[in-house]
Amino acid sequence: MNEQNKNDRAGWLVGPPAQCSVPPGESKSPWRLVLLGAPGVGKGTQADRLRGRLGACHLSTGDVFRAAGSRDACDQTPVMKSAIEYMRRGALVPDTTVWEMVRERSACIRCGGGFILDGFPRTLAQAEALKEHMESERLSLSAVVNYELPLAEIVARLSGRRTCEKCKAVFHVTTQPPKEEGVCDRCGGRLFQREDDRPESITVRLEAYERSTAPLIQFYKDLGLLVSVPADGSPDEICENTVTALDALHLSEDRLH
Ligand code: AMP
Repeated sequence: MNEQNKNDRAGWLVGPPAQCSVPPGESKSPWRLVLLGAPGVGKGTQADRLRGRLGACHLSTGDVFRAAGSRDACDQTPVMKSAIEYMRRGALVPDTTVWEMVRERSACIRCGGGFILDGFPRTLAQAEALKEHMESERLSLSAVVNYELPLAEIVARLSGRRTCEKCKAVFHVTTQPPKEEGVCDRCGGRLFQREDDRPESITVRLEAYERSTAPLIQFYKDLGLLVSVPADGSPDEICENTVTALDALHLSEDRLH
């Protein structure tokens, strides 16, 4: 794990003017990655591992909404309250709200430590907005990793997933159970089932993925940025395959190790 990159991501999770407790180390050629794939495919788990491997920050838009949802209602703006409602139903938050939130955090996009975007962009409009914004900042994406998994496997993963309320570590009731039921191995925090991992929300989320997010695969393929990685196997194997696939895209090898 890259200790330098162990910041609290306050700049991302809370937004400006909050500052990360430990700013990520500047890199000569930072990784700027987007992770694609259906909900439950393991993007968060991989983003966390890739963060350790590549040194770039894990930026999840879902984490921002969940962090806002766990604050007191009086600390939430009306726009954020409405975004949290969409999330609870498993529906996509409107593009304007999401983009406003990301644009507020554009320091994280510019950050010299790089980024691993998880859960953003999720629609063509968001992808276009990110592309335009990065072009105006003279930045470019290193690659877009698309994690692939059959639908039945995705449903099983989502419904058994449990998340630590403190450190956000992810477990699974059958395939990756914690040592003590309901308790995080890493920090002792309480494990909970995300509201949007309940069966009624899972269907809505998978439909939203097919309709709005799957078209991004072609969008990034056309830009020559897409790297497809099968999302079966252990998290370590998948991470290894991701790094190999990035390598194969002829991205400078010295950044990988
Ligand atoms: P995730 O943790 O990425 O699965 O996101 C959880 C939920 O947050 C999603 O089901 C959406 O309701 C909302 N969300 C997160 N990111 C986005 C996005 N880029 N666009 C729209 N909604 C989003």
